[in-house]
Amino acid sequence: MDIERIWTIRESSHRIQNPLTADKLAALGQALDLQPKASVLDLASGAGEMLCTWASAHGITGTGVDLSSVFTRKARARAAELNVAGQVTFVHGYASSYVADAPVDLAACIGATWIGDGVAGTTALLERSLRPGGLILIGEPYWRLDPPDQAAVEGCGASGKADFRSLPELLGHFGDLGFDVVEMVLADQDSWDRYQAAQWFNMRRWLDENPGDELAAEVRATLAAEPARYARYGREYLGWGVFALMRR
Ligand code: SAH
Repeated sequence: MDIERIWTIRESSHRIQNPLTADKLAALGQALDLQPKASVLDLASGAGEMLCTWASAHGITGTGVDLSSVFTRKARARAAELNVAGQVTFVHGYASSYVADAPVDLAACIGATWIGDGVAGTTALLERSLRPGGLILIGEPYWRLDPPDQAAVEGCGASGKADFRSLPELLGHFGDLGFDVVEMVLADQDSWDRYQAAQWFNMRRWLDENPGDELAAEVRATLAAEPARYARYGREYLGWGVFALMRR
């Protein structure tokens, strides 16, 4: 039970595995007016930076669930480093049907809505753990510019244009699902680079250290092609944001 190893190579240096910088993540925590001891569930919590830094800055408590044993270990180490290991717990496992033991104040899924088969299914999954009146956080890509052709769609890692919505369509979709959108923090092209371009250095360092690995040829080919593809497509056409929702 684990994720594909390529992701632990690509994101080996990442504390935040999405296109928000530490500043933007902190701004989001402030915008949400988190109260001390507020309980947070984070599905697909990765290396745990959101829970750990918010526990440190705002005194929240929380549980993160993630399928990667490597990222879960990193999250526990980060909690110890920030002296919040008593406030946050990281569980290694599938998040797709995870429901908290007791209703939480805030339930999040940042950059992994495939766990609920899309935005609608993931908000429904998160609501199963949420107290009435609680907050949902969803981190999700959107089309920043309309992709002109299928090459642009695939260059952004999508299989079809319908995989994502434009920002107004995404915000409207949250409304159609019965939520008020009460906050949002968006990535920009520079913060995308911090997520995406940082993966190139990780791949290059890994290649230098693991030339005989069975994944080496794939990583080499990816590193050779990805910077130009990203500049042509993802950096231009894909936006990304975290959206805070409350049931109407
Ligand atoms: N929310 C974190 C991590 C986002 S990256 C952040 O924003 O920093 C996506 C994460 O989803 C990875 O950590 C990966 O291990 C995890 N993941 C993928 N499929 C999963 C599943 N079915 N259940 C739990 N975690 C999953």
